[in-house]
Amino acid sequence: MTDCLFCKVADHSLASDIVYEDDQIVVFKDIYPKADVHLLMVPRQHIASLAELDSVHDGLIARMMRLLPQIARQQGLDNGFRTIINTGPGGGQEVYHFHIHLLGGGSLPGFA
Ligand code: AMP
Ligand code: ZN
Repeated sequence: MTDCLFCKVADHSLASDIVYEDDQIVVFKDIYPKADVHLLMVPRQHIASLAELDSVHDGLIARMMRLLPQIARQQGLDNGFRTIINTGPGGGQEVYHFHIHLLGGGSLPGFA
């Protein structure tokens, strides 16, 4: 999607600090980190939000879930980490390209 921020990150047309990428998934640093480690994991494919997922995405989602702890370990988060998915205006979603926040290290923000 041409006007989507995270599509642009995924295709490298917008500069970002990418820590991992493969044929389907890109992980990069959040530009306004809320913790010592704050990454965003996105599919290369444009999916607007968690609410838009359907069964064709099952394999992709499984890959993303299994990759999260691997990335956390690579980032030195041996003691655990937090994942957050904001969905829709009621969930505080700001960027409408599905993404999973991965946070850890030091003090983590609350849910407020
Ligand atoms: P959400 O509220 O879940 O949609 O979160 C969007 C996140 O994207 C926020 O934590 C922003 O700090 C982050 N963000 C916005 N623009 C960029 C960007 N260009 N590169 C990296 N992170 C970004
Ligand atoms: Zn997109």
